[in-house]
Amino acid sequence: MGNAKQTKSQLLEELQQLRSELTAVKLTAEKRTHELYVSEERFSLAMRGANDGLWDWDLETDDVYYSPRWKSMLGYEESELENNLNTWGSLVNPGDKAVVLEKVQDYLDGRKDSFEVEMRMRHKDGHEVFVLSRALLVTRGSDDKPVRLVGTHVDITERKKAEAYDSKQAGILEMIAIGRPAAEIYDAIALMYESRHPGMRCSMLELSGNKLLHGGAPSLPQEYCEAVHGLENGPSVGSCGTSTFTGQRVLVENIETDPKWAKIKQFALPHGMRCCWSEPIKNSSGKVLGAFGMYYNHPALPDEKELKDLISAARLTGIVMERDQAQKRIRMLAYTDELTGLASRAYFIQHTEEITKSSHRHGHRFGLLYIDLDDFKCVNDSLGHDAGDLLLKTIAQRLLTTCRETDFIARLGGDEFCILIEEVEDDYAANVAKRCLEAISQPIEIYSRKLTPACSIGIAYYPDDGENLSALLKAGDISLYTAKENGKNQYAFYKAELTHKAEYRFQIEQNLREAIEKQQLSLVYQPQININSGEIFGVEALLRWYHPQLGQVAPNEFVAIAERIGMIKPLTEWVLRTACSQLVAWKKAGFQQLRMAVNISPSLFLDQGFVLLVKRSIDEVGIAPAELELEVTEGIVQTDPRNLTVFQDLKDLGILLSIDDFGTGYSSFASLKHLQADYLKIDKYFVDDMLTDKKTLTLVSSMVEMGQKLGYGIIAEGVETLEQLDILKNLGCEIVQGYLFSKPAGADSISELMNSQTHKAILG
Ligand code: C2E
Ligand code: CA
Ligand code: CA
Repeated sequence: MGNAKQTKSQLLEELQQLRSELTAVKLTAEKRTHELYVSEERFSLAMRGANDGLWDWDLETDDVYYSPRWKSMLGYEESELENNLNTWGSLVNPGDKAVVLEKVQDYLDGRKDSFEVEMRMRHKDGHEVFVLSRALLVTRGSDDKPVRLVGTHVDITERKKAEAYDSKQAGILEMIAIGRPAAEIYDAIALMYESRHPGMRCSMLELSGNKLLHGGAPSLPQEYCEAVHGLENGPSVGSCGTSTFTGQRVLVENIETDPKWAKIKQFALPHGMRCCWSEPIKNSSGKVLGAFGMYYNHPALPDEKELKDLISAARLTGIVMERDQAQKRIRMLAYTDELTGLASRAYFIQHTEEITKSSHRHGHRFGLLYIDLDDFKCVNDSLGHDAGDLLLKTIAQRLLTTCRETDFIARLGGDEFCILIEEVEDDYAANVAKRCLEAISQPIEIYSRKLTPACSIGIAYYPDDGENLSALLKAGDISLYTAKENGKNQYAFYKAELTHKAEYRFQIEQNLREAIEKQQLSLVYQPQININSGEIFGVEALLRWYHPQLGQVAPNEFVAIAERIGMIKPLTEWVLRTACSQLVAWKKAGFQQLRMAVNISPSLFLDQGFVLLVKRSIDEVGIAPAELELEVTEGIVQTDPRNLTVFQDLKDLGILLSIDDFGTGYSSFASLKHLQADYLKIDKYFVDDMLTDKKTLTLVSSMVEMGQKLGYGIIAEGVETLEQLDILKNLGCEIVQGYLFSKPAGADSISELMNSQTHKAILG
């Protein structure tokens, strides 16, 4: 019993103990709750006082209370956003959402003892607001489970922008320091200021003389930049033209109505620009280098911040512009020959290396003309160096007016000059050399002494004569030496045969002009035979030129030159008349069924009066259009679509057309889709190879077959053997032409041939 009594009193005691402990716990809990309540109150009061937004998140229900300031920070009214977590979820930048949630979790799980995060949120009108979010955990319940999270939002957009501006500015300074190209820096500067002022577009113009040149404007339309580029500045030429002229800031509130824009507003208005503020860009000594322009698509004047930025933008750009212009000046000095203003030796070396590289890449050829004045030393010695300088200047001027703008002329030093030219057409280098010789040898008066300068020119080709600068210069030098050896005042190629060829072509060129007048031209004719009927179907007229000194000149050679020097029209006119007259003569002699084929150069095809010329020729001579056949190469179809019209006009006249050298061009059958010709002439090249090469035989066979299916007559040219004739016959080819029957021959020989009917014997 004593035991039991003791136990009971012990229990009571313990109970008492427990009770008081419980009360203590309760008290503490109540105290804590109260304290929290108070701190929360204070907290929210503090929030209301500061310009922060408040949020209160019930972690069990995901209800979130957003304070009015929280909402207005993002541009919303109290009633516009729902009080739940989705609201935040839909406004936070998706790129930041996961990071924020992770930080929340870390904090709730106790891995971090505070919560603070920066995130981007979307403002109601679309722009981004940078928000700094901080929170405090409010735990309730004895299990320590997190129940509420209360936090604040602070708008840190301005600070963020300032940071971004600072880092961009640092980036630009770095670009300046490491010497990036000015254009690149201009763009970076424009973009930096544009990102600070949504909707703004910036431009930088450089002043050169009194012209405004495009510097940078990455956000303005190219069309506008091009319209402004090259404008002359003046007292009322938009904002920038005016500010560069006056050296003063020009703020135009409304482009549409401001008189300063009256003359050029048509360039700006279509692209939306409505206001433009311009600050002159000056160098360290105050000289106006250009202007910085800021545009908006609405009429406005700058606020304080915009004005500050306009001024600092112009200053920053000024640093870049001044440095850029100084560098350009240095380069100019290094790259210009002081005496003559031509490119310097340094520039020549650099340029040659560049075009060697690009020519290598594109498989191009270029020529180097090495020019050296003959007996320049005499001038220097007898008349003095001033006279020598004067002569060199004059020579430089003459070279400049002789060459094309694309030719690169340099003075290598002393009396040596170099010209780099792209061989745009045959003999171009030789042509330039010839013109230079001519230009330089014009008399000149220096200090009342009359001089007749002369020079020698060596020509070398890349890559034929040298694949790099030094090899080329060496080849040029050797050819120059050859030219001097040959007697000065002339040019020489590195390869002697080129010099001879060029010489020969020049002689052709010179003499061709009078070939018609001097009656050096003649025609030969080559018959075309119909294999099936055995009749002579027609003849092709081929031009011959005999020159008393040059001898017989190959038609391939002089026809090409005639095309180049504009002689092809009179030449063809002569051929047409002569050939048609011969046809009339043959008809009178009883050969009624004959046709006359005449070759027409592609370049003549596009000549305005070509169709008329043909018509006049046949009318005057008196033959039927269908008795004349014009041979043109298939290339004509690809070169110019206008050729198709000419084709049609000729067809309308009733003239026959045949495609010469068929199969050697690029398009062949494809080209036939567009034109209606009457005959295809299979080129000699195929007829030659047909016997030895199976593939060629297949090709000829398909040409005949397809040609016939498409409705063309087929003429095979260059037939030299009976074997070839046999094959062509078997393939179904109707008409043949070639040495087997007759070489091209004079009219009398052809008459004889037609009378004797020897061709029939050959046909067997
Ligand atoms: P083409 O129009 O392809 O003329 C055919 C050429 O092949 C002619 O050379 C002719 O003599 C030659 N030939 C014909 N049959 C044979 C053969 O069996 N064997 C060999 N080896 N050759 C044969 P030709 O007369 O030297 O004319 C060359 C080119 O000159 C012509 O090529 C044509 O493109 C041009 N040509 C000639 N006369 C004129 C003309 O009056 N005006 C124009 N624009 N070009 C012409
Ligand atoms: Ca021909
Ligand atoms: Ca041909």
